[in-house]
Amino acid sequence: MKFGRYDISLHNHGFFRLDGGAMFGAVPKNLWARSLPADAENCIRLATRSLLLQDGEKTILVDVGNGNKWSEKLKKIFGIENTPETELGFSRDEITDIILTHLHFDHAGGISRYTDSGDLVLTYPDARMYLQRANFENGKNPNQREKASYLANHIDILETGNLELLDGDCEVLPDIFVKRVDGHTVGQQYLEIRSDDDTILYPTDLCPTSHHLPLPYNMGYDMCTKTILEEKEAFLSYALEKDAIVVFEHDPELAAARIHINDRGHYGVREAVSFE
Ligand SMILES: [Zn+2]
Repeated sequence: MKFGRYDISLHNHGFFRLDGGAMFGAVPKNLWARSLPADAENCIRLATRSLLLQDGEKTILVDVGNGNKWSEKLKKIFGIENTPETELGFSRDEITDIILTHLHFDHAGGISRYTDSGDLVLTYPDARMYLQRANFENGKNPNQREKASYLANHIDILETGNLELLDGDCEVLPDIFVKRVDGHTVGQQYLEIRSDDDTILYPTDLCPTSHHLPLPYNMGYDMCTKTILEEKEAFLSYALEKDAIVVFEHDPELAAARIHINDRGHYGVREAVSFE
């Protein structure tokens, strides 16, 4: 899709699964399971959907999926099915810049990989990487709750590359704005991309799927429920005011939509948006 100075496309690095209850926090299963059925182990299938923005000079990737550094056992537990590299729709070498929303493995695991000889290397060695400093510090010293999400094998290696740490909200690249939010995890950043007459929002785990649009539908994984509720309310009211396109990083089916307030008084999908 042509959008302002960029050609923008969506690319799913692959699927994985997480516990459905953990994905919906205090929401009872009989509500969330109607639209997202759970498997025999109560897990739901999730995408790891990146944005790719190209302006003829830069090729910018937003988040990099789970990556392939997984043991057979963990692959099974998390149901990791990565998209073959040849089917991703872009090549590693063309990426000049990477914006990481935060360092949880399902967003940043793909930043590193093992070579055939077993060495741990950056997957995109020449790319400039942008991340909130607060999230980098958080990821290097995770608390007990987040330890299983912030893995040393994709975090320690960042400093060997071209890493730019950001301190709060800024225009990180032309027409691409990042905003810091802390409710899901300290130092997460979401994206706003502007053209003359439209806005794309990439909320990352502030609103991981279209099923999380209703304000009380938050994840048990969020570190601070009260903060995320305030941040999400501000985010969704802004998305509504701008009639923005909202991209859902983890939605297994619906990639992007414009939103409205539905007849039950909740935020919901008004119409799906295709990036074709
Ligand atoms: Zn996530």
